Amino acid sequence: MDKKKYYVTTPIYYASGDLHVGHCFCSVLTDATARFKRLDGYDVMFLTGSDEHGMKIAKKAEEAGLTPKEFVDKTVDGFKRVFSKLGISYDKFIRTTDEQHVKCVSAIMNKLYENGDIYLDKYEGLYCVPCETFFTESQLVDGKCPDCGRPVEKASEPCYFFRMSKYSDYIKNLFETKKDFLVPESRKNEIYNNFVKDGVQDLCVTRTSFDWGIKAPFDPKHVIYVWCDALVNYISAIGYGTDEEMFNKYWPCDVHFIGRDISRFHSIIWPIILHAIGVELPKKIHSTGFITLKGDKISKSKSNGFDPIVLADRYGADALRYFMLKDGPIYNDIPFAFDVFLKTINSDLCNDLGNLVSRTIAMITQNFDAVVPQPKQIIDEDKVLIDMCNNLYNNATKAMDEERSDIVLKDIFDCVRCANKYIDITEPWVLAKDPTKKDRLATVLYVLTETIRICSVLLQAFLIEIPGKILEKFDVSDNLRTFDSIKTFSLNNYGKTVTKGDPIFPRLDIDKELEYLNQESTKTPSTPSIQETTEDEPIEQISIDYFDKVKLEVGTIVNSEKIEKADKLLKNTIRINGVNKTIVSGIAKYYKPEDIIGKQVIVVTNLKPVTLRGIVSEGMVLCAVDDKTGDLSLISPNKEMPDGSIVC
Ligand SMILES: [Zn+2]
Repeated sequence: MDKKKYYVTTPIYYASGDLHVGHCFCSVLTDATARFKRLDGYDVMFLTGSDEHGMKIAKKAEEAGLTPKEFVDKTVDGFKRVFSKLGISYDKFIRTTDEQHVKCVSAIMNKLYENGDIYLDKYEGLYCVPCETFFTESQLVDGKCPDCGRPVEKASEPCYFFRMSKYSDYIKNLFETKKDFLVPESRKNEIYNNFVKDGVQDLCVTRTSFDWGIKAPFDPKHVIYVWCDALVNYISAIGYGTDEEMFNKYWPCDVHFIGRDISRFHSIIWPIILHAIGVELPKKIHSTGFITLKGDKISKSKSNGFDPIVLADRYGADALRYFMLKDGPIYNDIPFAFDVFLKTINSDLCNDLGNLVSRTIAMITQNFDAVVPQPKQIIDEDKVLIDMCNNLYNNATKAMDEERSDIVLKDIFDCVRCANKYIDITEPWVLAKDPTKKDRLATVLYVLTETIRICSVLLQAFLIEIPGKILEKFDVSDNLRTFDSIKTFSLNNYGKTVTKGDPIFPRLDIDKELEYLNQESTKTPSTPSIQETTEDEPIEQISIDYFDKVKLEVGTIVNSEKIEKADKLLKNTIRINGVNKTIVSGIAKYYKPEDIIGKQVIVVTNLKPVTLRGIVSEGMVLCAVDDKTGDLSLISPNKEMPDGSIVC
């Protein structure tokens, strides 16, 4: 029999900059859903990708001295690095610059044009440059862009319009009658009230002010609006118009996961395009909230993101995945607080799960020569835990039909905590002292082992390393790592040899880690191009060409001042080759501004500028740091050198 299909997508990420923690949630949630369905026997297609056209990317590329294609190639490499670090198990990565996609968009636009759904007119309106979106006066919030909160500007250009108004009743009916079409309900109502109820307006779907995009087939002076281009990825990637068989197999999509800021595009423009070309709608759009820092949405354009690579490198992908999937913004925004993150992973992964595993293995090793014993008589004391295990799978499948990883993880960890309590109640260490209680001891340790197996098998959908580590310790064979094997609590999985090995998750020193994270978060907000090495990793060797890419020069500090409300930072003005650069450095604890004016320092001068506390910092001053005491020293040439001298 053919497997049931499951098609799930993330939004395609805009290739204008690096990914940050805020983006990763949607990908991690999609990944968990895809992994769950695969384990549950579905034929899964998990699509992710990158949105690569538009004025903003053309501008960024120009600033970086690259062609747009070179620029997006680089950004997309970065996306893939982050995804691989976080274990995002996508089946396909679509790029909107892929030839197949370009052809598909062009064909769809042509079809709409030939149907009379697209007409030429002139657009005058209020435009948000970063969002590449026109708004009407009434859509603005406090006179600013409703999506990003930045000022909009008046703009006018000839453009082709998509006759969306013609589909007003269609879309209204859709919102009023299709239940799960957009979740959560609150977001659906919000979009309905603001953008649907009073009818939808025609949409300007081409641009002439730049050319980095897909050319309109009916008028090549125009490029297609980035949203009409991007949305089509969900069908171009699975063969719409090119591979009928594959398309019919996977479409309609089961769930589009998106961030809440793009709900409007997905719930209005996308269904209208599909309806207009005669394609069935996706079954569900799941609109997630955001992970925020200090109450602000982490967004690429605001440069306040926190690097997921830093977190995953230090704590492992599972720590980040666990935190996001358990406490993440399934529907509504949640703040990302370092202390909550650290405490959660310490208490759940290290204490609750880690202790359960290590205690069980230690007792089996001590009392049964490290072989899982055969259970004897099951009594009421055991049944509480066994019942919980028996419900896990069914409850999980129900919860995952609503994409609720948070509910599943809560259930699994309730079961883990119940197992720890079971140890306290049954007191196996007391049973071990009494030879007549050997059978009871065998049963208790068996029940614990089977509980751990069932929880770990389910956890495989959410975490990528820890479940395998645990199953390895209990020598669980492949056929007992499937969802089929955890539907009922078995009494037959004894006889395997357990191994102690390393703890499944190391205990964290919360104070020390908090200090580290706070320090990291004041550094550049985006992924540094050269990763710093940590103690336990071998130091990566680089070639001289690689080193040569870093431009180091001598500069003189001509001014330095404190930055309000930033007690670690100084704003320095540094003269290099007669040109003054502004550079923000985290040295305020070690130097007073007046003490460093006139000093010569070494500056990385070709670092991508970043905005720190509203100040554009155009480089980095080199320092020596003692990683034991935290003491810091600026580095200077040991005799006076002319400004702009090359450091090599
Ligand atoms: Zn905006």
